[in-house]
Amino acid sequence: MESVQEHYQSMRAAIETFTPNVSMELVDEAFRYAEEKHKDQRRKDGSPYIIHPLAVAEIVAEMGLDSDAILASLLHDTIEDTDTSYDEVAKRFGVTVANLVEGVTKLTRVNFTSLEDEQMENLRKMFLAMSKDIRVILIKIADRLHNTRTMQYQTPAKQKSKSLETMEIYAPLAHRLGMQKIKWELEDTSLRYLDPIGYEDISRQLDEKEAEFDHAMVSIRERIEQRLRDSGIKFQMYGRVKHIYSIYRKMYSQNKTLDEVYDLYAYRIIVDDIADCYNVLGHIHDLYNLVPGRFKDYISTPKPNGYQSLHTTVIGSEGIPFEVQIRTAKMHHTAEYGIAAHWKYKEGISTAGGEEEFEWVRRLLENQQDSEAEDFISSLKIDMFDDEVFVFTPRGKVISLPSGSTPIDFAYAIHSEVGNHMVGAKINGRIVGYDSVLQNGDIVEIVTSKSAKGPSRDWLNLCKSNQARIKIRQWYKKERREENVATGKQSFEEELRRIGVQPSMLNREDLQPTLLKKLAYGSMDDMYAAIGYGGLTAVKAVNKIKDELLRYTKSAREPEQNHADITNINRAPKKSTSGIIVEDIANCVIKFARCCTPVPGDDIVGFITKGFGVSIHRRDCPNAAGAASPDNSGRWVKVTWASAPLETFSTSFELDCTDRDGMALDVAMVVTSMKLRCSELAARADGQGNCTVYLTVEVRDVTELNTIRTRLANIRGVRTVRRGRS
Ligand code: MN
Repeated sequence: MESVQEHYQSMRAAIETFTPNVSMELVDEAFRYAEEKHKDQRRKDGSPYIIHPLAVAEIVAEMGLDSDAILASLLHDTIEDTDTSYDEVAKRFGVTVANLVEGVTKLTRVNFTSLEDEQMENLRKMFLAMSKDIRVILIKIADRLHNTRTMQYQTPAKQKSKSLETMEIYAPLAHRLGMQKIKWELEDTSLRYLDPIGYEDISRQLDEKEAEFDHAMVSIRERIEQRLRDSGIKFQMYGRVKHIYSIYRKMYSQNKTLDEVYDLYAYRIIVDDIADCYNVLGHIHDLYNLVPGRFKDYISTPKPNGYQSLHTTVIGSEGIPFEVQIRTAKMHHTAEYGIAAHWKYKEGISTAGGEEEFEWVRRLLENQQDSEAEDFISSLKIDMFDDEVFVFTPRGKVISLPSGSTPIDFAYAIHSEVGNHMVGAKINGRIVGYDSVLQNGDIVEIVTSKSAKGPSRDWLNLCKSNQARIKIRQWYKKERREENVATGKQSFEEELRRIGVQPSMLNREDLQPTLLKKLAYGSMDDMYAAIGYGGLTAVKAVNKIKDELLRYTKSAREPEQNHADITNINRAPKKSTSGIIVEDIANCVIKFARCCTPVPGDDIVGFITKGFGVSIHRRDCPNAAGAASPDNSGRWVKVTWASAPLETFSTSFELDCTDRDGMALDVAMVVTSMKLRCSELAARADGQGNCTVYLTVEVRDVTELNTIRTRLANIRGVRTVRRGRS
């Protein structure tokens, strides 16, 4: 067991080598502070806990990160594991260090075990989203690297679950950040626990081969070194065996034997400048025959994550193929430490930890073209930065919500019962108002009570997600019938008065059964309740029975009838019931074109059809343009929308979506939440993970149309929303 002193010395050496500008006084202060805080804790192997932060700080120093990052590494477990507070760290070591420690702490609190694939993806996204400062991820990766190195002290169950997590989250992140050396170590160590037999098999075979070919390899190396020395090139040459996981992957995924995997043996030659890279390459190709198709010039065309090197595979004198990698020292550093190396070179000109820096990381990630990364990046681009926020339950489960969400959205995302019984909310342990906007990485806790009064109507304005809105409405529908009946009755009667009908008419016994039948409700109270909770609009309800009411008003013109009412009806503006005014033509038949389903507010034109009156198209409808040939020029007429139409207009949408459970339901919920009438809702999956949803709804005007369109587009998995049918 190594002592604290040994670890301290080793960290100090790394700092002196890689980050000589860092003040050892500060480092010592952070070290003593952390040592004191962790003094009662032990690692699984029984050693003092402080060994872990020291080792992490050493790795972070090797990466070439700065003073703040090294201090934060030493302190990275203090907030999580001891009584230390953010404020305390901020006061002693500055806000930047405290933010880094807090960032790492948040990531530490994520509970990865038993997560499904979808959650994994969320987590990878969240890692980036949360870590506004890239150093947080780098420290976290260093933390994981040290824990991986000391995995033998964990229980077998923990070894497996942690290794899986490393494979799924940390190694891909290290890869995307270009940190090859760390990625390899993470993968190899994890493979050892995930497939001990496969790992042992490969490493045994490699050992055998090494013994067998050792002599040949040494002579190859000596021959190359001799040649380079003779030509006066300054260089360093290393022998290297490829990392086990990449061989494992090639053998298992491409079904190859070890002998079929090229570049089992490789040499790396580090030189001073680019010219020498190509000089060395010339000598290698002069000494040995090259394997066709294996030469790669990553110097002129770097890999997307910034990797630069020349790769070539040649055949040695004994017929063994081996790879040679040639690069400069700077390229080598970048290959091993990736983004950390970039970070180092950028130091001093960037606003450390600021948005800019994050932006730059994002660009680097976006430049990665390999397909796996592409998926990752495209998911980042779609939802990560603008319209999604990731927060935690107190148990570390990740919940994704639309950005701008509040504790109300969170509560209903957990369960409608949690929302309905909510009496308070905490973010990161502090009590907050229901209107607080959730931030990435917040830990949100909902306080519930059996005696809660239920959601308030204000919540409808405070919540951001459709899910919460719909659940709140559902609650009102169920729990507040009396209230719904009263408010529904009130708005229904207001609407009646607006069209000039006395609400008292409804009480006539000879009329009511007809009306109820038209309305399709069992009782007037049922209908009022529907209006009250928002399932039906008063306008729509009145529209359904308007004709009956008006006819009845006219026919039963009794002496005691309020005279003003009649005048009012007669004065109603004269217009086509379609809500369209056709210039110079009175009372023509109006038909709305099915191709573009125009609604009030759309710019429209009319086309006189043969035998069917005027067909109304949107001006931008392709069919309208197609029909505009010289022959047809006389058939276009100017049309305008009649003002304030009472009617609704049928309009269609086509949605391209990811095929997932509940997609059509979510679409239906949007329609319901907007109280729109829907005449068609159909979904068709193509069996390849995509589906198209067809939707026809009735809207009043283009504003309403745009609202539903935006809401449809916000549904998870919806890629595009098109109007009309194509
Ligand atoms: Mn740790």
